[in-house]
Amino acid sequence: MDFALSEESQAIFDMARDVGLSEIAPHARDWEAAGTIPKELWPKLATLGFGGLYVSEDQGGSGLSRLDATLVFEALSMACPSVAAFLSIHNMCAKMIDGFGSDDLKDRVLPRALTCETFFSYCLTEPGSGSDAAALKTKAVKTNTDYRLTGTKAFISGGGYSDAYIVMARTGEAGPRGVSALIVEDGAEGLSFGGLEDKMGWRSQPTRQVQFDDCATPLHNLLGEEGRGFSYAMAGLNGGRLNIAACSLGAAQQALDQTVAYVRERRAFGQALSDFQNTQFRLAEMEIELQSARIFLRQAAWKLDQSTPDATKFCAMAKKLVTEAGSRVVDGCLQLHGGYGYLGDYGIEKLSRDLRVHQILEGTNEIMRLIVARQMLAA
Ligand SMILES: Cc1cc2nc3c(=O)[nH]c(=O)nc-3n(C[C@H](O)[C@H](O)[C@H](O)COP(=O)(O)OP(=O)(O)OC[C@H]3O[C@@H](n4cnc5c(N)ncnc54)[C@H](O)[C@@H]3O)c2cc1C
Repeated sequence: MDFALSEESQAIFDMARDVGLSEIAPHARDWEAAGTIPKELWPKLATLGFGGLYVSEDQGGSGLSRLDATLVFEALSMACPSVAAFLSIHNMCAKMIDGFGSDDLKDRVLPRALTCETFFSYCLTEPGSGSDAAALKTKAVKTNTDYRLTGTKAFISGGGYSDAYIVMARTGEAGPRGVSALIVEDGAEGLSFGGLEDKMGWRSQPTRQVQFDDCATPLHNLLGEEGRGFSYAMAGLNGGRLNIAACSLGAAQQALDQTVAYVRERRAFGQALSDFQNTQFRLAEMEIELQSARIFLRQAAWKLDQSTPDATKFCAMAKKLVTEAGSRVVDGCLQLHGGYGYLGDYGIEKLSRDLRVHQILEGTNEIMRLIVARQMLAA
């Protein structure tokens, strides 16, 4: 057993950290205020292979392990978790195409996804079905030339911004076996969007409803086989959950690093805050919490890489554990900053807002517990 990162993995982390520092961190607050991320960012990240982190190399992707991919998201989140998580969604879609798409679909779609010329969104949730995603109602009716979609997807990160959408829609019976995954490109007839959602965090990512009104997408835009879409969507989520956890980890580490520097500088009652034992104990608690979260996350990523039978359970456990630890640590950092932690200039309040949603999406943390308990009781 080796707990150290290999030289190559460390280099991947460092590369992502550097590009985050130069290309993302200086703009993160402005992008949050603007409610969008300039599209020019993505091709820059794609030149480093971040457009298809775990797309196989023979398809032109980076072919990284899940573990190495979590390092990218951990490092990018030190600059901005909202930007990093947005890129994670695109990568989840690219991997679904690589993993389940026909050769024709891959040839047509993947090259532009890898360069991020086609930025992807993932459309599963609906106004009436979130946690119970298999109850989705958006319909796709097959004709001789295309699928015609009717329905509404809710909370879509990148809705009205992305160039293409992977849409889970019902082509058959009720329940998960009646769901197919279809690619719908921006500009498709019958595709429209709701207003911009006003959110607590992740504000630099535009979130909108995505609406299909007899929306046409060609037959060849079916991903894999009809009726398998729900299992593809769930397979994508295992890795997505690791990435979201990594985003919490990186952001919390950033907050903790900033806090260590801050408590050395800031003085009260004639001494540095760092001289109070309360401060020291709080720092130590947060360090213990983050380091143990990191080890647990990397173990889960390793299990997914090895396709162990308990990989899904470990991805769910890691998502729950790390996202909750990350939010606790950021909150502790905010407290140690006193009133300044509450001000935008110090960056901590943004992290607190950004990280909160990690306990809700890609499956709520209650659903993560459900997955864990089911596996335990089935054993
Ligand atoms: C900012 C943001 C971005 C998002 N981006 C996307 C995206 O890009 N694509 C996408 O498809 N979706 C996206 N989502 C949707 C997200 O995945 C859902 O919000 C999430 O799955 C929860 O669904 P819901 O909001 O309908 O809550 P509900 O399912 O209504 O849950 C409400 C509460 O009930 C609990 N609950 C539900 N069922 C159970 C149960 N069986 N046992 C115990 N407790 C339960 C939940 O844990 C939760 O606390 C996004 C959401 C947000 C907030």
